Amino acid sequence: MIYLLLACVILATGFAYAVRGRSSQAFGPSMYRGDRAQSAIALTFDDGPSESTPALLELLKQHDVRATFFMCGKNVERLPEIARAVVEAGHEIGNHTDTHPRFDFCSRAFIYDELARTQVKIANATSVTPKLFRASYGVRWFGLRSAQAQLNLTGVMWTLMGHDWKWPAERVAKFLIERTRGGDVICLHDGREMQIAPDIRSTVDALRTVIPVLQRKGLRFQTVSALAGLDRKP
Ligand SMILES: [Zn+2]
Repeated sequence: MIYLLLACVILATGFAYAVRGRSSQAFGPSMYRGDRAQSAIALTFDDGPSESTPALLELLKQHDVRATFFMCGKNVERLPEIARAVVEAGHEIGNHTDTHPRFDFCSRAFIYDELARTQVKIANATSVTPKLFRASYGVRWFGLRSAQAQLNLTGVMWTLMGHDWKWPAERVAKFLIERTRGGDVICLHDGREMQIAPDIRSTVDALRTVIPVLQRKGLRFQTVSALAGLDRKP
């Protein structure tokens, strides 16, 4: 009996990792960092665009930093001009679902529709069709592999999660300054799920400190595609 229980726990743990683990490929091709030998890193921002995104764009411009924005279709629909401003500033755009659901226990058709609608909304607003996808809450599920394949999307997880939706700026900054190294993909947020005019001061204030410190350490900021060499593949 005890062995059966133990086997169940091991199976459940393995399955949970397949769904949310950063290196899991169980539900489709996915990356979470670039080559460790390089001095480049990638900043990524999820849940936008939001009314608060322009303040972040201004900061990135001041430091000549390119980043990757994983946008939600519904937010793009609300703020197409801000989505366009992100592209015009030279940043990369990825798909972060339409309405930010958790995919566990969702149907294949639901998952495909969430991704496909977002591709259309982003393309309509910006003329860019994303090649990257980040699952909301990092949750992948059955049906995602075929949806990604049909829409030509590579999954992107992260090496470091900034917890900027709940940590104060000082804590986010300290964490990133201490932990970041070459090849990292850093996950932050320029929106807060579907919130209108979210407060992202923690994100922007943390980066005001973090970017110059990391640049002085010799780290360069690149888009995810550049960091992972995806832009060199056909
Ligand atoms: Zn998200």
